[in-house]
Amino acid sequence: MSLLEIENLRLVYANGHEALKSISFKADAGEIIAIIGRSGAGKSTLLRCINGLETITSGKVRVDSDDVAQLTNEGVRQLRRKVGFVWQEYNLVERLSVLTNVLTGRLGHNAERNNVLGYFDRGHRQIAVRSLERVNMLHRANYRADRISGGEKQRVSIARAISQEPKIILADEPVASLDPTLSAQIIGDLAAVAREDKVLTIINIHQIDLALQYVDRLIGLAQGVIVFDGPPTQFNQAAHDRIYNFDRVHI
Ligand code: ADP
Repeated sequence: MSLLEIENLRLVYANGHEALKSISFKADAGEIIAIIGRSGAGKSTLLRCINGLETITSGKVRVDSDDVAQLTNEGVRQLRRKVGFVWQEYNLVERLSVLTNVLTGRLGHNAERNNVLGYFDRGHRQIAVRSLERVNMLHRANYRADRISGGEKQRVSIARAISQEPKIILADEPVASLDPTLSAQIIGDLAAVAREDKVLTIINIHQIDLALQYVDRLIGLAQGVIVFDGPPTQFNQAAHDRIYNFDRVHI
């Protein structure tokens, strides 16, 4: 059984819009996958289905053999612990220190009583410090999160995700707000730490050049349908056209 199994996933929003049509794919621990496609193709919706943030219309999403649609509240809590998220706009708590932000990645592992007190023992702190070190951000540990640059914020958010020791990291347009050089460094860092920890990592990304350079597999979405699924070596002009110019080619 694969870590992630998606079978005939369909998602229709309340307004009747069918965002995902019949999505099926499997993914294993350690794979680094880019989801590419035009705006509106369904990339964010797909990530939210994996994290249990959307109620799927039909089909199945299984994470670590659990059927996401059938989870109890406790099951959803455990799912969230297994799945780290990296957002385009970082979602850091701006008035808190960088280190405290990374420690929030440990909330799911900390005793409830200690969370209420904001107490994290030495073991948790060591993991947070090590995570910051891995993305070269330890020198900013005591800065307030609102005092660091966008690229630094995204590194901190990657540190927070890895300190969670997740099985899966989902990154939704993580470099859409950053310049090309910084974007390459950050996708490179994300892919490197994920590969080292054998975390399945799924990145929604617009920059195909970065995807081709850093990931193992690309999944191309067009209008809620997978129109390409393969390694960078198989990605060619025809695949590109199916994903981006589907209204000009016959699928
Ligand atoms: P992408 O991430 O590829 O840009 P999204 O998954 O955000 O695409 O959106 C897919 C489609 O679903 C788009 O047409 C979008 O407008 C629509 N959509 C997204 N969220 C909602 C919602 N909450 N209600 C209705 N339609 C939505």
